[in-house]
Amino acid sequence: METVSDYFGSLVFDDRVMKAHLSSEVYQTLKKTIDQGAQLDLSVANAVAEVMKEWAVANGATHYTHWFQPLTGITAEKHDSFISPAPDGRVIMEFSGKELIKGEPDASSFPSGGLRATFEARGYTAWDPTSYAFIKGKTLCIPTAFCSYGGEALDKKTPLLRSMEALNRQALRILRLFGNTEVHYVHTSVGPEQEYFLIDKDLYDRRRDLIYTGRTLFGAKPPKGQEMDDHYFGVIKPRVAAYMEDLNRELWKLGILAKTEHNEVAPAQHELAPIYTTTNIATDHNQLTMEMMQKVAARHGLVCLLHEKPFAGVNGSGKHNNWSLATDTGTNLLKPGDTPHENAQFLLFLCAVIRAVDDYQDLLRISVATAGNDHRLGANEAPPAVVSVFLGDELTAILESIEKGTPYSAAEKTTMKLGVDVLPKFPRDTTDRNRTSPFAFTGNKFEFRMLGSSNSIACANMMLNSAVAESLRVFADELEGASDFHATLYELIRKTVSDHKRIIFNGNGYDDAWIKEAVEKRGLSNYRTTPDCMPHLLDEKNVRMLTSHKVFSEAELKSRCEIMLDNYCKTVTIEALTMADMAQKEILPAVGRYAADVAAGAASMKALDSSLACSYESRLVHRLSVLADQIADKVQLLQQALDAVRDTEDVTEKSYAIRDSILPAMSALRAVADEAETVTAASYWPFPTYGDLLFSVR
Ligand code: ADP
Ligand code: MG
Repeated sequence: METVSDYFGSLVFDDRVMKAHLSSEVYQTLKKTIDQGAQLDLSVANAVAEVMKEWAVANGATHYTHWFQPLTGITAEKHDSFISPAPDGRVIMEFSGKELIKGEPDASSFPSGGLRATFEARGYTAWDPTSYAFIKGKTLCIPTAFCSYGGEALDKKTPLLRSMEALNRQALRILRLFGNTEVHYVHTSVGPEQEYFLIDKDLYDRRRDLIYTGRTLFGAKPPKGQEMDDHYFGVIKPRVAAYMEDLNRELWKLGILAKTEHNEVAPAQHELAPIYTTTNIATDHNQLTMEMMQKVAARHGLVCLLHEKPFAGVNGSGKHNNWSLATDTGTNLLKPGDTPHENAQFLLFLCAVIRAVDDYQDLLRISVATAGNDHRLGANEAPPAVVSVFLGDELTAILESIEKGTPYSAAEKTTMKLGVDVLPKFPRDTTDRNRTSPFAFTGNKFEFRMLGSSNSIACANMMLNSAVAESLRVFADELEGASDFHATLYELIRKTVSDHKRIIFNGNGYDDAWIKEAVEKRGLSNYRTTPDCMPHLLDEKNVRMLTSHKVFSEAELKSRCEIMLDNYCKTVTIEALTMADMAQKEILPAVGRYAADVAAGAASMKALDSSLACSYESRLVHRLSVLADQIADKVQLLQQALDAVRDTEDVTEKSYAIRDSILPAMSALRAVADEAETVTAASYWPFPTYGDLLFSVR
């Protein structure tokens, strides 16, 4: 029988394949590029391209593509075949180093926020050799970055790679200060836990809201939702199990370390988590995972919904970004050590993260902002829009004692003021898992939980890496100039705790009292929507930080802000138009038909027996008619709201108007339509209900 290890990574041009097929000289040069970012010359690229093509063709590929991540949020590819005409009228399969390194997709339709002048609209893609090429279907996919000719990033990979480099630079400075000379580079690792819904394809096809927008825009609450908590970690149903098995196989062939899977809280909701890996690879893998989830679902007569909030009234879907810092020598810098010396280093990195999250709360919020995710954050659901850090009681107590210079525990008699050398050996606190915190320390990593299920993890990680790089830069500047390293280090930790402890919160993040305290007492920001937070991307402190670490240029930031707001406006507008259309063409006719049939039935009953009052029927007809009027009114109000914003040019202004007028008009329409659903006979309702959708897959 074929085992997983037989086919794991079989579609990946990975280290094993490179070693086996490249000459040792070429392999060594390429390895140096992969590990240390060394320049690759064209002769080496040619040799790699030739071997890559041979391998791909042997594995059934006919085409290749530069696979990239434009700002649309999904991945893009343009396929070219390997064929090249031969003099004898036949073809040979060709692929050069130039084609491997650089591509020029006709990509003028991707959003660029004004970065690409139309006369030079093409942009180009550049190979990222640190992420392995792979075969998808019949195509060799080469992971690439996407830039304009002026060198501006038009994608999500470029700033992510830059942020990893920035963090590496600053973390190395800190490690050298601690006397470490062995480490060559520091990278971040990420393990993203991915939530999703699975529903039946036939039902999906009958809901135009799902087809156009990925979420339901109408739907009364079913009698049963998630209140019984009987789905979470429950037995996986046979159809879902078959899907997961098939999905795992596809992901394993692509070298993706899919590891755990289970049912989530809401009915029809599930989760998949891979084993963590280097951030840019984890990002590529997460994009591929989302794509595979949808492809494999189709084979099983299912649809995989990745929208953050496909259903009202049950949990939405998020993505937990487990993040840590590690050295090339295999040390996790966020793991508490065994000696006071190691612990001092650990505490400094911990403080760097605390400071980063406090100073750049807004950037973290911005990094997960989409119209879809607004329905989770700030809407009484999994993490609030307020960013805070959970550390657990143990670590919080240690930081407090450092700040106050008091003994850490009754058993620990030494006053911590004496210096880092007396830092206690402390146990790792992995038991206390606060599920409501947006940013939680979980023993040896931080778990950033605000990402929406469809978000690319690139955005969250580029902001996180940059903000932590900035903390480390400030720390390194101070420590490098210190005459007494230990005293300065100790004071630095103490002061960081004192200055940034407002961001630490170990309680219930969903509690209204916390939101009040966070905003009013602690001065934390609470940006509930995308238009609320996005303009802060251009706040002076954010531009200064991101440009100083060379993660973004100012022009790139401006273009991103504009693209994200434009995306928000378009998303909500499409939803509003879909609602108006469904209400007019499906709901109103159905309600009208039902009311007319009830009225006709009552009339014929009365004709038969004039003593019948038919009061139930007449009350029902009345109610249906009133509801139909209300639906029609709300549709009209929604259309007026849409008309009012249509010509607004300024995208920020437009996003405010959409937030303040279109979204409320959509809610008002939904409320009356959902009420009509509850009084309309099931056989008349024009599309599948929440009950049908959520409980259809067995
Ligand atoms: P939970 O549901 O309790 O959060 P899971 O096991 O579902 O835990 O997911 C934890 C994720 O964190 C996995 O993707 C795992 O690989 C990842 N992870 C574990 N250690 C690290 C680390 N040091 N850095 C980054 N991610 C990590
Ligand atoms: Mg988790």
